[in-house]
Amino acid sequence: MTEARFAFGGEALPLDVAQARIAEGFECRVGVEIVALHEALGRVLARDITAPINLPPFTNSAVDGYAVHHADLRRDGATLLPLHGKAFAGHVPPPLPPGAAARIFTGAMLPPGADTVQMQEDCEQRGDAVLLGAGIAPGANCRLTGEDLARGERALEAGRRLMPPEIGLLAALGLERIPVYQRLRVVLFSTGDELVEAPARLQAGQIYDANRALLAALLSRLGAVVDDGGILPDDPESTQARLREAASRADLVLTSGGVSVGEADHVRAAIEAVGELTFWRVAIKPGRPMALGQIGGTPMLGLPGNPVAAQITFSLLGRSLLDRLAGANHQPPIRFFARSGFSFRKKPGRREFLRVVTDAGGVAQRFPKEGAAMLTSLTQTNTLADLPEALTQVAPGDLLACIALALLNG
Ligand code: AMP
Ligand code: MG
Repeated sequence: MTEARFAFGGEALPLDVAQARIAEGFECRVGVEIVALHEALGRVLARDITAPINLPPFTNSAVDGYAVHHADLRRDGATLLPLHGKAFAGHVPPPLPPGAAARIFTGAMLPPGADTVQMQEDCEQRGDAVLLGAGIAPGANCRLTGEDLARGERALEAGRRLMPPEIGLLAALGLERIPVYQRLRVVLFSTGDELVEAPARLQAGQIYDANRALLAALLSRLGAVVDDGGILPDDPESTQARLREAASRADLVLTSGGVSVGEADHVRAAIEAVGELTFWRVAIKPGRPMALGQIGGTPMLGLPGNPVAAQITFSLLGRSLLDRLAGANHQPPIRFFARSGFSFRKKPGRREFLRVVTDAGGVAQRFPKEGAAMLTSLTQTNTLADLPEALTQVAPGDLLACIALALLNG
């Protein structure tokens, strides 16, 4: 997959093209297992799910009120009908004779014969009878058998990541053993001699490793098993040996840092030495060169070292790779439009993701600290404004295509 034109000192690859390469270049690497529904959150459905029952399973009332035969109602005014029976949720009601009304509660089965429910706010009970207001449509306030989903219809498609609504739907269909893809095992490394991890105390020149925790959190949210590879020193031999060992037990090897072209950047060379490298410069900011490749047939992705660049490149590219490998249908994050509250000049030729704060009125303000190392630019904002390649400036009032950061994190 190496393409010299986009590698090393060459042209930078547009983000769209990089995303398409990932979508085309990888396949699902995991098998299928059955899990209990309560363990299925965040997992990826491995088979289409066909509704085994109708939803709802029987026609029932959407409100508290009175069930009637619509044909018994007068067209020109209110109708007084004698009351006959009650329909409670969870109980089978007696049939409704013609010319009568039944008290009914939300979720109760419609009495056989009834076809319409008048809500209680539009009725007046008078002893053993009820006065029903005029003008209700036939079938009003009834939830029909199978109107949500009919038996045999496809409820969910294979590749769907199971989030709370999907879990609710599977439960409503009475399903409890769910076929999902096995979790993807990701061996995760940080790289760099400057990195240490708490509780160690920082020595001169050292920083705490932020990326491993950040990426492990992103991976866990996506249902992957994170296999902690630790910190790779800036040393070519041990980088090679540990990447090779990791590849032998992983579905994906993920690293951050060490993919630039500095003297201490060994990840790229290590992949070349023990596997096969596709190296891209992707035309985005933040986001630097990315190393993509494989070692012994296991995919390997090297993200940039600066934490903001690591998060953004993971979310824009790594996530689609992860989805491919995990059998999930990749859904690019949904965009919304916010109005710019700022001016900004931009270099053409690359996509730029500005960290902005969007208020409830849909106006976005730029976050003043924009360095790719500034973690607060992610914790103190809520939005990435996605500025297209060709754009050179943003003026107050311009519409900005935006991605909610919360979507990238879940
Ligand atoms: P590199 O690409 O390795 O040159 O890293 C670029 C920048 O990101 C440097 O300032 C590194 O110190 C920093 N960096 C790399 N990895 C991490 C990490 N895991 N946590 C925090 N900062 C990092
Ligand atoms: Mg480094």
